[in-house]
Formats: sequence, C-alpha cells, structure tokens
Amino acid sequence: MRQKIGVAILSIGLVILLASCAKTPYNAQNAIVNTASTPALAHALNVKENSQKSGLSYQIVKSLTVEVGPRIAGSQGDKRAVAWAEAKFNELGFDKVYKQAVRVRNWERGFADAKVVSPFPQVLAISALGGSIATPEKGLEAKVVMFDSLDSLASAEKATIEGNIVFLNTRMERDRAGSFYGQVVPNRVNGAVEAAKQGAQAVIIRSVGTDNSRFAHTGIMRYADDIEKIPAGAISTADADNLEAMFSAQKSAQQDIILNINMQAKDAGWQTSYNVIGEFTGSEKPDEVILISAHLDSWDEGTGALDDGAGVGIVMAAAKLVKEAVGQPKRTIRVVLYAAEEIGLVGAYQYVRTNKNTLGNIIFAAESDFGAGQIYQLDTGFAAAVRNDPADLYSALNMMGVKLGNNTTKGGPDVSMLPNYGVPVIALKQDGTYYFDYHHTPNDTLDKIKPEDIQQNQTVWAMITAYMAMSDFDPRPAPNTK
Ligand SMILES: [Zn+2]
Repeated sequence: MRQKIGVAILSIGLVILLASCAKTPYNAQNAIVNTASTPALAHALNVKENSQKSGLSYQIVKSLTVEVGPRIAGSQGDKRAVAWAEAKFNELGFDKVYKQAVRVRNWERGFADAKVVSPFPQVLAISALGGSIATPEKGLEAKVVMFDSLDSLASAEKATIEGNIVFLNTRMERDRAGSFYGQVVPNRVNGAVEAAKQGAQAVIIRSVGTDNSRFAHTGIMRYADDIEKIPAGAISTADADNLEAMFSAQKSAQQDIILNINMQAKDAGWQTSYNVIGEFTGSEKPDEVILISAHLDSWDEGTGALDDGAGVGIVMAAAKLVKEAVGQPKRTIRVVLYAAEEIGLVGAYQYVRTNKNTLGNIIFAAESDFGAGQIYQLDTGFAAAVRNDPADLYSALNMMGVKLGNNTTKGGPDVSMLPNYGVPVIALKQDGTYYFDYHHTPNDTLDKIKPEDIQQNQTVWAMITAYMAMSDFDPRPAPNTK
C-alpha cells in the first residue's frame, strides 16, 4: 500500500515535470490552458489509482458472455443483451438509462457442411458468411477453381469459372495494428458478387484470420441488386491450406477437385434491436457530452468476448470508475452500446439520425472495438489549433505506455461518421497481434481476455474520460469538417 502511494506521488511529480517541459514550445494562451487543466489531471490520476485496483471491466464482460453469450442482431440473444445492458447500467448507478429503437435484418446461420468429393474425399470446416443465402436443400456439388485475390478472379476467363465454386485463397499476415485485415476483408465482403459476375455457383474464402486452427471466421458479406446471389462461406485457414495442397497433389490438371457444399442459412426478416445508453449527467455543463462507446451485438458462434464484450466492459467500467473517483462529472458522460455494428453500423447510423440536432454538443466521441489487447497509442481528430493543449494528459498517458499518435483518425467503426458532422473523435490503438486469431469464430470466448490487459484499457479510458469530463478543454470542431 505504502509503496503504491509512493509510486503515485512519483508519477504526479513526473507528470508535472513532463507537462512543464511540454509546455515550453506553446504560446502564452496555451500555457494558461495547460495550467487550468491541472485539476482535470488530478482527477485523471485519482481515477487511475482506483482503476488499478478494480477488475470491473473484466467482471462486466464476464457477466455479458456468461449470462447472455452470442447475440447476433435481431436474435433472441440480442434481445437478452439489450435487457442485460439496461439492467447493468442501472445496477452500476447510471442516473439516466434509455434505449433507441433500431430496425435490423435478422439472419440465421443454420446447418453448414463442406466436403471434398473427389479426388481426395474428406470434410472441410466451413462457416456461412453473414447474410449469405442457402444452397439448395441437398447442397451443391461442383468443381473448385482457386484464385489468390479478387483481382485475379476478375481478370480470369469467364468460361473457366462458369458453374464452378470459386475458392478465394488470400493469406492474412499478423501484426500489432491488425492492418492486414483491411487488405483481405474485401474477399469476404465482395467475393460473392465478384464470383457471381464470373458465373460461379458459390464462393468459399480462406478465413480472414491469422490463426492456424480449424475454426472458420464468419463476418458480413454483401450482394448487389443487379448481380445473381450465390451462397458464400469461409473455410478455416487449416482447411484452406489442405484444399490448396490438393491442387498440387492432383495427378493431372484434368483431374478436377469436386466439392460439395450444403449451407442452410436464412434471412429471418425485420426485427427491432436497440442502442442502449447510460449517462452520468453533467453537474455544471450537462449539455456538453463525452461519448464513449462499444457495440452490444456480436456474431453468433462465439460468446462475443473480444468482439465486443471487451469494449462493453471497458467503457461501462471507465464511466463508473470516474463517477466513483470524482463524484458527479462537470460534463455529461454518455456510454452508448450500439446495436447491430456487425451487419453494417446500423445502430450507429440510427444514433446519428435520432440525434442530428445535438451532435454539436459532443465534446469528443470514441469506441472500443478491438478486443482487450493493451493500448499503445492515442490518435485524435481534434481541432488542430488546440490539439496539443492537454499536454499534461498526454504525458500521463505516456506513463501508461500510450504514446500520442496522429491527428487524422476517424475513431472506431461506430463513431467513424461523426467527424463529418464536426464531432471530434479519438482512437485508442490496441495491441491486435492475436485479435484476428479469434475474431468472428466460435473461439471468441472469455478465456482469451487477460485481466491485466483489459484493466490497462479500463484505466486509460477512465483517465481520458475523467480528464475530459472535468476540464474546459474543447477540441471542437473536428478537422476537415464537411
Ligand atoms: Zn466489433
């Protein structure tokens, strides 16, 4: 205990030192802002100390994954998640808890099965992609044609593809920022349309993932109105390796690889889901809003622990810890748990429509939606003239292992449209080295979350939330507003 107090005093000392160093290059006006923000920093450091003794974010994601589990938009699980979120906000003492209705299209996975019929008969691990139509009831059987990218599919002879099953086989590399996801995910989203344009009967993709397991990675796919709809699935990376190797093991090029796919997914129609919102109302400036968020829905095969139970736990806990440490915040802290992110940011767009006249009140918005790996960087989308004003906060975050990054972020997925309305955003970049091992698989479960990692997230979010809710720092409007 004594040691901890010593460390706290030491870190305050360092922060003041660093803050005063960081101040030097700024003009006098900015220096005044920095001095004025010192009480806000004291609140941030206070909540930091409390957070480092709290396992609240882990307890919340545990509660969500154990008591609700899978919660695909519009499903019974989703309805239970909405009830869970309302109850949890109330249990945590939020002083305003409410919902916004969101119309969502519900999709049911059903049975899925794939097997190589010849020349090397065996089963492949497959998952239907979200939104896919079904195969005929007895499945479909055809020759497999393999491509290493959407581009090579598009430039191939149509005659070689017509009536066949396209196999899109692009590997995803592992890195801390998860930056290869954006390069590979078009296979999943657009593969069916591109394969159908070439006359294919179905498409299967190498899972968009970095593991070598037999869990396939699902995720949303799209059809185009004027292109024939064909069934779309993902096979696990291990099965993709196996299928790829069959092409080299063929005795001759004339020996086709015949695959049988049976997927019985279905569109289950319109349902109502909800954005669930909890607030601690500002005591001095209730109309100035700190918006922190995550998404409540998940895919259906895992329990949605990393995606995005972790985010739900982090932002709910951060707000609660701020309330405990500082009392009623000066500005309003609003925690938004968005509906239906996975099927196309549906809840987030509804939020913008419902709140279009008050978006200008948001001081900044942020979403946690990248698992529970430790945060290493803060990117901002703040008005450039004041971006460096909270130098004391940036220094304090540095000591949490979080360095200041760029000022060009659009924030997380569900807040990415807000900068277009002038709303400042931040993104807290997390270590995503292993995130895509589990993303959208049955293996996205609570055991993948390290309590010490999610606690670091909780602490960083709580520090920023406390600082912003207790200071006059105002980064509006976002740069490059339309
Ligand atoms: Zn997510």
